[in-house]
Amino acid sequence: MKPFAPAEICKIREDFPILQRKVHGDRDLVYLDNAATSQKPLCVIEALNHYYRQTNANVHRGMHALAEEATADYEAARAKVANFLGATDPKGVIFTRGTTESINLVAQCWGQQLQAGDEILISVMEHHSNIVPWQLIAQRTGATVKAIPLTSSGELDLEAFETLLNPKTKMLSLTQISNALGTVNPVKEMIAKAKANGTTVLIDGAQSAPHLPINLSELGCDFYACSAHKMCGPTGIGALIASPELLNAMPPWQGGGEMIDQVTIESSTWADLPYKFEAGTPNIGDAIAWASAIDYIQTLGMARIEATVQEVVNDAASRLEQEPGVRLTAHPTERGGAVSFWLDEIHPHDVAQLVDQSGVAIRAGHVCCQPLMKHLGHPALNRASYHFYNTQEETTRLLEAIRIARKIFGVA
Ligand code: PMP
Repeated sequence: MKPFAPAEICKIREDFPILQRKVHGDRDLVYLDNAATSQKPLCVIEALNHYYRQTNANVHRGMHALAEEATADYEAARAKVANFLGATDPKGVIFTRGTTESINLVAQCWGQQLQAGDEILISVMEHHSNIVPWQLIAQRTGATVKAIPLTSSGELDLEAFETLLNPKTKMLSLTQISNALGTVNPVKEMIAKAKANGTTVLIDGAQSAPHLPINLSELGCDFYACSAHKMCGPTGIGALIASPELLNAMPPWQGGGEMIDQVTIESSTWADLPYKFEAGTPNIGDAIAWASAIDYIQTLGMARIEATVQEVVNDAASRLEQEPGVRLTAHPTERGGAVSFWLDEIHPHDVAQLVDQSGVAIRAGHVCCQPLMKHLGHPALNRASYHFYNTQEETTRLLEAIRIARKIFGVA
């Protein structure tokens, strides 16, 4: 698939009001922190505005025009998420606050059946939100958390994976794309191996849903978690996608309104899916605005988004690699939107602050991956993360900013 041409990207950038702003006085903003959160096109901002101006009402209960409209739009958003990700049944789409909440839901509800001796397999490159929820349920049940190690190029060690996968492995929970290294993991093959072993699989799609065409019916995982805010949608909304059979077999998560069928003082019964897992008033406006983000990226086309991001990030990785004093943290065969690096003799926090003075927004720190930092032997890194609206000229601006930083530190 052909990446967007520079003129097309220029046009796309006009859809994002924030990309037109300046920072630190007169510096054009170069936003390379998309792995943390993406920017929002005008249609998403307007969808949210429209919802609160025209539709706002609670869903599934009121018998009036606004409540009916809000319910229809909220349920249409659910159907849109299902369709976008290739899920077979919208009843298997649970709206959550995002990837973190989705993984916690699975760990707490599905994980209740774990027993002493059972194993949960993750990897060393996981985000804290795909580590800590498993530790919490492991502590309660006596299960153990194990991690697939990495190769020197920053990929999953697939031989070690096959050795670690054993009859005690009840859950495999993996990120499809590393937020820290940019590595795209071969999850399809790994899911097939895990399923053949009788292991349930969760895929953390926080970084993959924004960048890759996803077809859950083909991928074959049991659970998939993602966040709207990384895919041009609003913060505070995301989803857990699973088969209705699996969700029906799980106990509910939070108790309250919406998730019940009958309540007495002694006991309660549960609503049908997906409501069993959506206690309380949901985040209606953001779900509706997420649907608008999905319309937007679907119109651009996920295959073209993937090609465009790969082109710009691969160019950035090779130019950063050639830059004096810069070392890449990983050399994966396939990259998602992120490239991370270190500058010799300058702490990543200083690097981020100095390049920010040139208007370039990158990330510094452990990027919520402390076990990965331990593996790399550094407490922190710098990360430039791209989306389809970023350009090669913006990488040039990053490189210029890095040269200024090195001069200031007297290492150039
Ligand atoms: N997993 C990965 C790989 C991520 O990059 C992130 C966000 N940085 C998360 C999980 C958590 O996502 P959220 O904060 O939207 O819940």
